Amino acid sequence: MIYTIPDYYQEFECIAGECPDTCCAGWQIVIDEKSQKKYKKYPGAFGKRLKSSVDWKEGIFRQREKRCAFLNEENLCDIYINSGPHMLCDTCRKYPRHVEEYEDLREISLSISCPVVAEMLINRREPVRFLTRERQMAPEEYEEFDYMLFTKLCDARELMISILQKREVDIRIRIAMVLSLGHDLQRRVSSGQLFEVDDLLERYRSEGAIPRFEKRCAAYFNSSPEVTAPVRSALYGLFDELEVLKEDFPEYRKKRLAGEGKVSQGDISEEEAICLEQLMVYFIYTYFCGSVYDEQAYGKVKFAVASVLLIRGLYLGDFRHGEKPDKGAMTEAAYRYAKEVEHSDPNLLLMEEMLLKKRELKLENLMYFIGGM
Ligand code: SF4
Repeated sequence: MIYTIPDYYQEFECIAGECPDTCCAGWQIVIDEKSQKKYKKYPGAFGKRLKSSVDWKEGIFRQREKRCAFLNEENLCDIYINSGPHMLCDTCRKYPRHVEEYEDLREISLSISCPVVAEMLINRREPVRFLTRERQMAPEEYEEFDYMLFTKLCDARELMISILQKREVDIRIRIAMVLSLGHDLQRRVSSGQLFEVDDLLERYRSEGAIPRFEKRCAAYFNSSPEVTAPVRSALYGLFDELEVLKEDFPEYRKKRLAGEGKVSQGDISEEEAICLEQLMVYFIYTYFCGSVYDEQAYGKVKFAVASVLLIRGLYLGDFRHGEKPDKGAMTEAAYRYAKEVEHSDPNLLLMEEMLLKKRELKLENLMYFIGGM
């Protein structure tokens, strides 16, 4: 079995009681069956507490004032304190690790819904690299797995990440180019012309690709507010359709997005461009190759671009941090967005579906919006 991790993976350390937005409050924690069995059998007074603090029908921890019943006043986990890490359920033991499974490959990422991970990514200056390790294990078979498509997707993702990390190029061009590549790739995937993918990638990889793209993008840049306003409204309106995970999120995002238009956007600073790059690489690395299962490569690229634009909308409207939002505002926007969208399968599906359906969010309109950043 081959494992891939981002190079900052080992740096993660949970800050538990110091966490500004603990993962043990505000949402439901699903308990795997093995842990449920252990909790049922646990002896003594703590066993009694375990039995009464689990909603056995739903298979989740009960909550008190939206907090897990085991989260104590110091924001520490009583299961961990009383019984040690081996008694934690799978969700609590693994979080914020996220695994994507592809036949004999496991791609592991750290979810930016955890404030520590979001902060690590936002503060990181060096381009992210991905490390690969191999462990001897029996390979698992996936009936539906299309190895040919997966290989092409991996090649396309590698190219997308290398484009995103070309720091000598305007970040808006880099994002627009990846979006356009996703669009062109989808045409080949949908028509079953996978043999043409190599030529397409070669075109985007070639020396003249960036100057050609810069020329093409000139038409989209410095777009007027009349052009970008409907795109902004369709993009920000996506939130209205999603299931709410954290009760305070709708108020938070309405306040932030209402403030966004009042900030003079101006040029994207070098520092901000690096944050946008890291976020784009995060979303592309985590989700893009999942299109091997639904053949929606363009939907995954659109989701990455929309996520970055939405996170930017959220932090631009944060006036607590002054005219130019700082990394604290960026970190908060990233983890709050990810908590709401990444931890709900219906939300992930709906986002992609709406991004592919809404006319206001078609390629050309998104290009105008990116150009107006
Ligand atoms: S959100 Fe992250 S840092 Fe906070 S308690 Fe959970 S794992 Fe620890």
